[in-house]
Amino acid sequence: MRAVVFEDVGRPGIQDRTVPAVGADEVLVQVVATGICGTDRAILLGEFPARRGVVLGHEAVGAVTAVGAGVRSVAPGDRVVINPTYHCDRCRPCRRGMPAHCGAKAGREIGVDRDGTMAEFAVAPERFVHRLPAAVPYRRGTLVEPLACVLNNLRAARLRWDDRVLVLGAGPIGALCALVLARRGARVTLAERDQGRLALARLLLPRAVQVLAAEEVTGAGRADAVIDTTGTLPGDVLGAVAPGGTVVVMGEKEAGVATLPLRALVTGGIRLVGAGPYRPADFELAVDLARDLPLEGLVTHVLPLERYAEALAMLAVTPAGPGRSDGAAGYSAMKVLLATDDGLAP
Ligand SMILES: [Zn+2]
Ligand SMILES: [Zn+2]
Repeated sequence: MRAVVFEDVGRPGIQDRTVPAVGADEVLVQVVATGICGTDRAILLGEFPARRGVVLGHEAVGAVTAVGAGVRSVAPGDRVVINPTYHCDRCRPCRRGMPAHCGAKAGREIGVDRDGTMAEFAVAPERFVHRLPAAVPYRRGTLVEPLACVLNNLRAARLRWDDRVLVLGAGPIGALCALVLARRGARVTLAERDQGRLALARLLLPRAVQVLAAEEVTGAGRADAVIDTTGTLPGDVLGAVAPGGTVVVMGEKEAGVATLPLRALVTGGIRLVGAGPYRPADFELAVDLARDLPLEGLVTHVLPLERYAEALAMLAVTPAGPGRSDGAAGYSAMKVLLATDDGLAP
């Protein structure tokens, strides 16, 4: 089978791999499409550590083609989405009800240190394979995983119904935050530095979302909650937070460092929180909410696997090697999917 592989920093490649074997409690999925994520991008830019030679990708939908002898919940032919955030259920964090912080993740992160889904087939343990509801087409299903991230981070913000929310970064994660919040009737502002992404956000999001260039934010009034999806937490962020407000930090760049004025944090009574990875229940909720959320509106491009380099270039990853990812990077897409030959027939 063909697979898109992380050969080295700045060097993705397409390789021929054997179709993975299926263990007793595992499911073999013929991948229909995988969304390209900020994490894939960060791996290729050298900003997120990953194993060289790993098959990239973790936001996948597809059809079950084979199951192990012990599998009961899915069968060949089922349309499914894979939860790529594995946990062991045995370590101390897992037993204390914090599977998102599982201590046994090393070697188990799909598309990072274990082969991912930018391939024609992928294998996953049964308990991380979810059937897609009939109302969720494949194209929409690819956004279930990012939606789980978003739900987890919005929960960490402990929002009140009358909160004003500022989302920093209009990539797919920021746009999904805004989409979910707008659906809930929240007053939401989305801020972005990259001109391409700014234009796409204005085009793709409902009118209820206020979309601003990052430099316009200061005049927009203070927010009760700020969700930073940029991974760079700007030093002046506290100026945008109302007293008693919350800042949720997303983004997992290894070298991400922020400098904040502590007095503003203390006198403002501001809560600064990292939500961590999503829990299994967030993923199940995302599968369910996807029935009613038109997530596929954020998909701007669908390309076959072979055109991975073109797809990455739209997301400001060029073969030249590590580049800027701190804004003004030159995006020309919102969500890009890599699809297998069968494309995205529902
Ligand atoms: Zn992702
Ligand atoms: Zn664990």
